[in-house]
Amino acid sequence: YDPSKIRNFCIIAHIDHGKSTLADRLLETTRSVAAREMKAQLLDSMDIERERGITIKLQAARMDYFASDGERYILNLIDTPGHVDFAYEVSRSLQAHGEIWGDACEGALLVVDASQGVEAQTIANHASRINRQVYRRVLGQDLEILPVLNKIDLPGADADKVAGEVEDVIGLDCSEAIAASAKQGIGIEVSPWSGQAVRGGQARSMTSAPPLPPSLRPSSRRRHLPLRALVFDSYYDAYRGVIVFIRVVDGKTLGELRKGDRIQIQFSASGAKYEALEVGVLTPGVGAGQQSRPVLRAGEVGYVHGAIKSVDDARVGDTITISAYKDGSAPPPTEALPGYREPVPMVYCGLFPTETTQYQLLRDSLEKLKLNDAALVWEPETSSAMGFGFRACCHGDHWQERLEREYDLDLIVTAPSVVYEVELNDGTVERVDSPAKLCDADKRSCISEPYVKMELFAPKEYSGTLMELAQQRRGERGEYRDMKFIGPERVAITYDLPLAEVITDFFDQMKSRSKGYASMEYQITENRPNDLVRLDILIAQEPAPPLSTIVHRDAAHSIGKKLTRTLKDLIPRQQFKVALQAAIGQKIVASSAISAMRKDVLAKCYGGDISRKKKLLNKQAKGKKRMKAIGKVNVPQEAFMAVLSLK
Ligand code: GDP
Ligand code: MG
Repeated sequence: YDPSKIRNFCIIAHIDHGKSTLADRLLETTRSVAAREMKAQLLDSMDIERERGITIKLQAARMDYFASDGERYILNLIDTPGHVDFAYEVSRSLQAHGEIWGDACEGALLVVDASQGVEAQTIANHASRINRQVYRRVLGQDLEILPVLNKIDLPGADADKVAGEVEDVIGLDCSEAIAASAKQGIGIEVSPWSGQAVRGGQARSMTSAPPLPPSLRPSSRRRHLPLRALVFDSYYDAYRGVIVFIRVVDGKTLGELRKGDRIQIQFSASGAKYEALEVGVLTPGVGAGQQSRPVLRAGEVGYVHGAIKSVDDARVGDTITISAYKDGSAPPPTEALPGYREPVPMVYCGLFPTETTQYQLLRDSLEKLKLNDAALVWEPETSSAMGFGFRACCHGDHWQERLEREYDLDLIVTAPSVVYEVELNDGTVERVDSPAKLCDADKRSCISEPYVKMELFAPKEYSGTLMELAQQRRGERGEYRDMKFIGPERVAITYDLPLAEVITDFFDQMKSRSKGYASMEYQITENRPNDLVRLDILIAQEPAPPLSTIVHRDAAHSIGKKLTRTLKDLIPRQQFKVALQAAIGQKIVASSAISAMRKDVLAKCYGGDISRKKKLLNKQAKGKKRMKAIGKVNVPQEAFMAVLSLK
C-alpha cells in the first residue's frame, strides 16, 4: 500500500464517443480481465443500460498497472452516468452525482470523437459539468482533465482540429491530449495518463500522472485522522444486503476499514449503524466484480457490506465513519464529508395499472424497486376517475420502463406535478403533490411553488431563442438573471424559473431550438408565492381529476384552449359526441368537442382483404392496452401527458 501510487479517475464522454470501449480497453490492457472473461462493455451492467447503450449506474474498476518506470500503480476507474438525454429528472440526479464524482476522483479523461468533434454536441451535454471541474481546478483543487481524442483510426478523424475545438469551446489545454483509438488499442497501451501527445509531441509516462492532490492525499498526518469514506454508489443484493461503493478519504491505522473485525460503521446522514462484514476492491471479472480484501485504506476505492437492510441507510454522497471498535471503544466523533444533499422529492406523478387486477403486482414491484432506489418514494392513491394506484416521485423514466418490462405491468402514468406549498385560511401549511388535491381557492390564503436557478449553456448564436424559451413559457414566468461568456463562442444564461415550467417539454424545446447544442443544469432554490389556479378538465361533462393542472392565472385561458384542442386530437372518437371543457372552479374557460365515430370501424373494410381487417383490429387491441376509462370515455396514455407539450 503506497498512497502515492493510487490514481482515481473517471471518464467523461458524450454518448457514442467511446467511453465504454475505452474502459474495456483499459481493463484489457492492464489484464484486469482475462480475455475469455471479456464481455463487451463490462462497465454497463444493467440490462436496460446495455440495451440503450447508456450507463445509468456508477460503477468502479480497479486495475493494477505496471508502468515503464518499473513501479506498480493502482488505477481506479470510477464510472459515472454518462449523458443527459431523457428528461429533466436525470439532470437532477446527474448534478448530484456529478459533484460526488468530483469528490471521488482526482482525474478525468474527456473522450471526444475525433471524427465528429465538439461541434457534434459533444461538449454541449457536458459543458456545465466540465466547466465546473475546470472551475474547481482554478480554485486550486487539482482536478486534472485530460482530453482523449478518440477514433483516430477513422478516415474522417482530425485530432488536431478537434483539439483546437476543445481548447476554444471549453478552454481546456490540449497540448497534452492523447490521440487514441479505443477500438484498435492506439494510445491505450501505456496508461490512461500517457501516450503520445498530439501537439506537444512528448510522450508522457505514468509517473507524470496526477497523484492524489495534496488536499486529499493520505499523508501521514491525514492517515491519523479517524476514518471517513465517501459513499458514491450502492445497490441492493438479495443475499448480502446493500453493497456500498466507497472511496476512503481519511483513516489512521485503527480507522482503516477492516473486515470481520467487528468494527461498527455509521452512515452520517441516515444515522444507520452496521458491522462491516466484508470489505474489498472492485475488480471486473472476479466474482461479482468484487474481491474481498482484509483492509481498505485512505485513498482506496472499494466496497463494504454488512447486511445493510436498505439503500435508504447508505445513500449516495453520505459519509461512513467508525462508531465503535471491536473492543467497544469509540473514536472521537467525526464530521461528515461536505457535499451531501438530502434528496427531496419535488415532482410527483400518478401510477395506475390499466387492469385493476394488477394493483397488487404494482405494489409488490414498487417495493422491490424501492430496495434499490432510495429516492423512490410512493404512497397509495385512490382516484374516483382512475381507481386504485400510487402517487410516486417521478425521477428518471427508467424505473417506469423497468416496472413495465421486468414486472410485466401495463401502466397509465399521469403528468408530473411539482409540490406546492399551500397556506390554508386557518394558517396551516400543507404540501400538495397533485393538482387534484388542491383545495378550492376560497379555503386558502396563499400558494407557492418551487423555483429553480436554471443555467443554459449554448453557442452564442442560440442565446436569443433560448432566452425566449426561458422567458415566455406560459406567460412571462421566467426571470432573467445574467449571461456570461464561457470561452469565445459559448454563453451561460441564467434564469429563475418555476420548476413547473421546467418539467414540461422544456428540455426538448431547448434541444430543438439549439439544434442539440445547448445543455442545461438547474438547482431548486426556493418557494415563491404566485397567483396560481387549478385548471380542471371535463370529458363529456365528467370531471377528469388526473388531467387537472395548476397554472398561473394569467395563462389559464390560453392553456385551457390549447389543452382542450390537444386532447381533442389525442382522445379517440367514441360512439357519441364528446365535449371537452377546461374550467376554473365553476367557470368554463375553454371548450372543444370530439365528433362521434362513424358507424362501424370495419365498415370500410367490407369486401377488402382479411389481413387488413386483422391489422385494424390488432391496432385497436394495442391501443386499448394503454387506456383508462374516465366516465364513458377511453383516454389514452398520451392524453394524460398532453399538458406537458402544448403547442
Ligand atoms: P459510449 O456511448 O461513449 O460508451 O461509446 P461506446 O464505447 O459504446 O462506442 C460507441 C461506438 O463507437 C461503438 O460502436 C464502438 O465500437 C465505436 N468506437 C468506440 N471507440 C472507437 C474507436 O476508437 N474507433 C472506431 N472506429 N470506433 C470506435
Ligand atoms: Mg457506454
